[in-house]
Amino acid sequence: MFLLGHSCWSYLISKLTGRKLQANLSAWLAFLSGILPDFDIYFRPILAHHTWTHSILILLPISLILSIRFGRVGIAFSIGILSHLLTDSLVGTIPVLYPFSDQTIGLNLGIPSIADTTLETGALFAVLLLAYNNKDYLLITRPNKKSLWLIVPLYALLTLSVLFAGDNGISLANFAFSRKAFTLITIGHVILAGLLALGVVQGTRAVISEVRHPNSPRTPSQIPTTKP
Ligand SMILES: [Zn+2]
Repeated sequence: MFLLGHSCWSYLISKLTGRKLQANLSAWLAFLSGILPDFDIYFRPILAHHTWTHSILILLPISLILSIRFGRVGIAFSIGILSHLLTDSLVGTIPVLYPFSDQTIGLNLGIPSIADTTLETGALFAVLLLAYNNKDYLLITRPNKKSLWLIVPLYALLTLSVLFAGDNGISLANFAFSRKAFTLITIGHVILAGLLALGVVQGTRAVISEVRHPNSPRTPSQIPTTKP
């Protein structure tokens, strides 16, 4: 699955888990958690893509440690990380017991495929609905210092896409618009990156206004914005 789907599915699953557990996982962490297993792209060629970081034997202990250390927020974040394995195994396969076995499992619905396009763009649509419902949309509609954190998933989304394309000798523009199935996914990536970038702008505005009016009784960042 592409980063669009990973990021959107992890937002949905970790935010809904957080709501169940009454833990307020920040939006930037919810978007980031699902992309983390693909951070192996940053460490190529030391780490082969789709190996160590896509093994349940590695991710499960990490998730347990995070859950014990950070409690309910850690559980919600960990579920976001693990969602990566679920979504990758739907459209492809994952080496679930790596490094002890190279055996891969998954439904392998295909990438690109109609199924993948539906899963990725459908998740983006669901993110928009959930973000409206849980008030996370306020992160991009008004100045808020918390919104600055959205730069982290945005940075990961952009750099991983460029690195992945570079590693595979692909011209990003050709790749993005080469097939019909990719077109919707490309638009989805642009929309998600645009929304995250808007959040970064709102975060920057909040910081600037705080610097200009340090004694303001109620800065925009103090206005409560989100619920789990
Ligand atoms: Zn992956």
